[in-house]
Amino acid sequence: MAAEFLKAFPTLETVLIESWQEGAGVGNPYTSAPPSRAYGLPHPVTSPIISCANRNCRSGGFDIFQDIAEMVHEKLVTKKFVKVCLGDERSRKGGNLGRDCINTLHYCLTLKYKPEYSPEGE
Ligand SMILES: [Zn+2]
Repeated sequence: MAAEFLKAFPTLETVLIESWQEGAGVGNPYTSAPPSRAYGLPHPVTSPIISCANRNCRSGGFDIFQDIAEMVHEKLVTKKFVKVCLGDERSRKGGNLGRDCINTLHYCLTLKYKPEYSPEGE
């Protein structure tokens, strides 16, 4: 089943993402081990917004929709991106700390084109 938002891209079968995030809420909270700076296993994208791991983050996330649109336009198969979260950080009481969330997502997108649109098979 293709994700709903992929209907905007009729040439695509699916989109795979590999990613790791740095910032608050990332890594093992019990050992405070830093996150591994390596991409995880690729998995199909189910939403055009990748959620932010920062628990204090409000209205955050990483919008990959535009990235996919640009890749389709350029007929790219894989591309790496680094993006800072769109959200704001708030205190637990709900007050605004007045600063932007600085969690950063490092990700690599792989577009799977439908065979008839594949840029590889001429
Ligand atoms: Zn965030």
